[in-house]
Amino acid sequence: MQLMNMNCPHCGSKAEKNLTTYTIDLGEVLVVIRRVPCYQCDHCGEIVYDADVFQNIEKIVGAAKTMKQEVSIVDYKKVA
Ligand SMILES: [Zn+2]
Repeated sequence: MQLMNMNCPHCGSKAEKNLTTYTIDLGEVLVVIRRVPCYQCDHCGEIVYDADVFQNIEKIVGAAKTMKQEVSIVDYKKVA
């Protein structure tokens, strides 16, 4: 069961379910994760992730680090 409502930590407006591209530059490795489920504030555009999703992001980033590719582009749906 998904959370029905999520409020923006910045402005308190309602954040709607959306998909985003998560990018993190670790210096040696740039990790791009596409189609990540998130909540996006319709007021200020702030993006919030579920705890589960954030754990998966950390796993994907950890795996990408060990591959030592300069750029890793991962489809969230294929690994989570
Ligand atoms: Zn907001």
